[in-house]
Amino acid sequence: MNKISEVFGTNVFSDAVMRERLPKEIYKQLQRTIKEGKHLDTAVANVVANAMKDWAIEKGATHYTHWFQPMTGVTAEKHDSFISPTEDGRVIMEFSGKELIQGESDASSFPSGGLRATFEARGYTAWDATSYAFIKERTLCIPTAFCSYGGEALDKKTPLLRSMEAINRQALRILRLFGDETSVGVRTTVGPEQEYFLVDKEMFDKRPDLLYTGRTLFGAKAPKGQEMDDHYFGTIKTKVAKFMQELNEELWKLGILAKTEHNEVAPAQHELAPIFTTTNISADHNQLTMELMQRIAKKHGLVCLLHEKPFDGVNGSGKHNNWSMSTNIGKNLLDPGDTPHENAQFLLFLCAVIAAVDDYQDLLRISVASAGNDHRLGANEAPPAIVSVFLGSELAEIVDSLEKDAKYGKKEKEIWKVGVHTLPRFPKDSTDRNRTSPFAFTGNKFEFRMLGSNDSISDANVVLNTAVAEILRQFADRLENCKNFNTELHNLLRDTVCKHKRIIFDGNGYDDAWVKEAEKRGLLNLRTVPDCLPYFLHEKNIALFTQHKVFTETEMHARYEILLENYCKILNIEARTMIDMSKKDLMPAASAFSKVLAETLYIKNQCTCDPDTFYEEQTLKKISSLCAEMYRKTEALEQTLTALASKHLDELGKAKYYRSEVCAAMTELRSVVDEAENVMGRKYYPYPTYGDLLFGVR
Ligand code: ADP
Ligand code: MG
Repeated sequence: MNKISEVFGTNVFSDAVMRERLPKEIYKQLQRTIKEGKHLDTAVANVVANAMKDWAIEKGATHYTHWFQPMTGVTAEKHDSFISPTEDGRVIMEFSGKELIQGESDASSFPSGGLRATFEARGYTAWDATSYAFIKERTLCIPTAFCSYGGEALDKKTPLLRSMEAINRQALRILRLFGDETSVGVRTTVGPEQEYFLVDKEMFDKRPDLLYTGRTLFGAKAPKGQEMDDHYFGTIKTKVAKFMQELNEELWKLGILAKTEHNEVAPAQHELAPIFTTTNISADHNQLTMELMQRIAKKHGLVCLLHEKPFDGVNGSGKHNNWSMSTNIGKNLLDPGDTPHENAQFLLFLCAVIAAVDDYQDLLRISVASAGNDHRLGANEAPPAIVSVFLGSELAEIVDSLEKDAKYGKKEKEIWKVGVHTLPRFPKDSTDRNRTSPFAFTGNKFEFRMLGSNDSISDANVVLNTAVAEILRQFADRLENCKNFNTELHNLLRDTVCKHKRIIFDGNGYDDAWVKEAEKRGLLNLRTVPDCLPYFLHEKNIALFTQHKVFTETEMHARYEILLENYCKILNIEARTMIDMSKKDLMPAASAFSKVLAETLYIKNQCTCDPDTFYEEQTLKKISSLCAEMYRKTEALEQTLTALASKHLDELGKAKYYRSEVCAAMTELRSVVDEAENVMGRKYYPYPTYGDLLFGVR
């Protein structure tokens, strides 16, 4: 392998490349667009585009594409080659500023939630100059936002960029109040830890459920699962290590700061974490990481599963969204400082996050809602569906005394009066880190742990950024007009803690007692997609997004529709895959096995030596009855799907129907099939088993 420093960023049209290849004046103007969002004029864009094209061609690229993130959750690209015909029948390579800045594509096949009428099928892509262009598979990829003709967002990047602007605006107001006149911007930063499974490709290919749905819809538990805890941080198998090495190298070439890799809790489960960066770049990078994981796995005879719950009975895969805010010179606003002044500011930002998580717990839950993630949240492995904040003992004590100060006016008042005393430094790796908390403070950042492995991190960060922006707005409004800043700040923090302390919970989030306690505290427990989605359109949430110009009300309705529709589609595909597998493979397999048993039984009964037929008789009875049961349950599942057609339900009604009726019928069919698997001879079961899949990569 080449030296990392030599390969790093080689496929990126980075700042260094721009500096080297662009005339000074052009570079300066482009920087203004990147840093301050200034409009880029056509002449400048032409020069940039030309430099980009020359650079890309030197690196072997033949095509360019506007790379975007539609509501499908995966990235989209339509390639155009650089060729342009000349009059004498040759071609030259061309790429104009216009082609760089804006693209137009027939977008009628992307979900729009009704935003794009069929007569206006065009969608527009616009260059996000803050995220570097890069080369992937001989194609120059230009990160873009994707909008309708009317300017409505059709993607995940547009609202993310808008939410970053919102928090930037409000956080700067706060910094000014603390006397910071020099910072020109506040950005949010994210480091997403990505979990995934690797399974053998040959085995994967034999499982229609994995192929169609990304998860196993059937499968009895293997004799061994994750109970020995011997996989977590265990030695990485050679085949997996080779995959990781190639993945790292490809990620580094794309300027992605892949840093940590290790085995996870479940067998065949792994994790990759990059070093954090600006949120919209992190979102782009995470999409690329997921794409590369899948592509590179195949080269190693493996398949990378990004589904949130590929296997029943072992842990599913999530994504930890480590989030913070920092100034344009890189000062982390969630890092407690060395001076009392810095600490007061830190406490304000901390309290803003606590209040935001409490006020918008419904939106945070919705931001991670998907059919796949429903299998994790609320089960004993991922954070529960109840949103709460973990602070750690030191910080919890401080927050506690902020509140008590108001109540009792005791000694603590002296100690914790903000802006007067220095706070202790919090150990970043304190041992009491609570793994069951959905939203944990980890020293100098918050870790939002409810995301599913397959999620785009954009949704969660749109909510986080906007919710915190709103609380900062409220804080700034109050503080900007006060007489005595220190007193008002003190009161503000105390009031905030009093009002929002219900969201703070340091105990075991997996405990049943917490469910009851949370209910008493008035916290929401929204277990599934149809439970939480209606909250999206609540008045306070529409007010939040429209006020901060992150979504229009129309865009919100569209997103609501898309999410529900998507949920129904996924469950429909899963149900139909089960029916297909049951009819075409599983029942025939059970029947074939009974035939062998019946034949053996018949032959044995002909024998004069009176052999023992106990096994054949008992097993034949069992498998025949299970097979008949499979037939009935398959019919029943089919019935739930046909019945739906005549019900004329709206999208939410359909989603609820899928969750209650269809899911129940699926569970019943699965339990019969899994029981049959345990009765059947190994060679009769038509698919690789859980044991094969989980322990098959050697
Ligand atoms: P864990 O113990 O949960 O694996 P790590 O300390 O390894 O946590 O860090 C997890 C992620 O948090 C990494 O991607 C890291 O870059 C990221 N991170 C660290 N500081 C920040 C920050 N200020 N903002 C956002 N992410 C951060
Ligand atoms: Mg973590």
